[in-house]
Amino acid sequence: MWSDIKEIQSTDTNVKKFVFTKDSAVAESVLYKYPTYEDRTVICCSTQSGCPVGCRFCGAGDNFVRSLTSEEIISQPVHLLETTNVDVKDIGRLQIMFMSMGEPFLNFKNLKIALNKLHELYPNAALLISTSGPDVDSYDELISLSVEIPKIGLQFSVHESSDEARNKLIPFAKKLTLSKIAEVGTKFHSTTGRKAFFNYCVHEKNNTQEDADRLLELFNPTHWEATISVICERDEHIAAANKRQEELALDFTTELANRGFSTRVFNPAGQDDIGGGCGQLWFVQEWMRNNPDKAKPSIGRGKEIIHCPA
Ligand code: SF4
Repeated sequence: MWSDIKEIQSTDTNVKKFVFTKDSAVAESVLYKYPTYEDRTVICCSTQSGCPVGCRFCGAGDNFVRSLTSEEIISQPVHLLETTNVDVKDIGRLQIMFMSMGEPFLNFKNLKIALNKLHELYPNAALLISTSGPDVDSYDELISLSVEIPKIGLQFSVHESSDEARNKLIPFAKKLTLSKIAEVGTKFHSTTGRKAFFNYCVHEKNNTQEDADRLLELFNPTHWEATISVICERDEHIAAANKRQEELALDFTTELANRGFSTRVFNPAGQDDIGGGCGQLWFVQEWMRNNPDKAKPSIGRGKEIIHCPA
């Protein structure tokens, strides 16, 4: 399956990174425990090697190699769970998230196979898809599958409150507008009974009252919950998500809660020393640099590269 799997332990003992490589691809997964694997285990795994979407804050977005096969997707959580030495049945809360590298809906055929298989292997696992919202036909299929598999969750990476600002951050042209995303999430909730999430990375230019009001106009709290993420710098030299960013996230979370949203804050561990945060992917970036013949520049990536959504 893979010719090499590296396990990298953070100084924060609650998080480990895994780098899977073979001649034709690289994938990364992250394993978190809160505070023990038995209490709560969270896995972030990859659906593609590199990513064609090219989000400007993301270390995977510079290059695209190929979509991962269903076996390659499945192998990541299977391997990570084996390393915990815990019987999966004894895990109180298990979450497998498709949000490390790659756009899940640009590899939906293989993701669907993986969702079915992982549900069969680990019926207690929540299977959470986090998407930038490419303009594809697969959302209805996912919603139907989510009725069959009641553990599937859906989150959209929104990150800005207007299409104009979002287009700068996520330059991939063939994506849903914010109002289309709102329609899909509303349909997901109406059909499955489970609310959709929008994920919002807060920075100093998208945290105003007007931003919160626009989000409320777009995303009805009856159908949507909000994940507020602390920005993870993609560059290892400026890796720490600093205190100020945490404060920004908490303040904006209060704004959204005041508008009726159920909220949660996402501040991944291991950002400083292993790139445990979303979009950091330092080891992937290194593999891409060492394999320039396999890594094609992403469609979505413009010439200008910035380090975070600020
Ligand atoms: S954030 Fe996700 S969708 Fe955007 S480039 Fe990175 S992996 Fe792709």
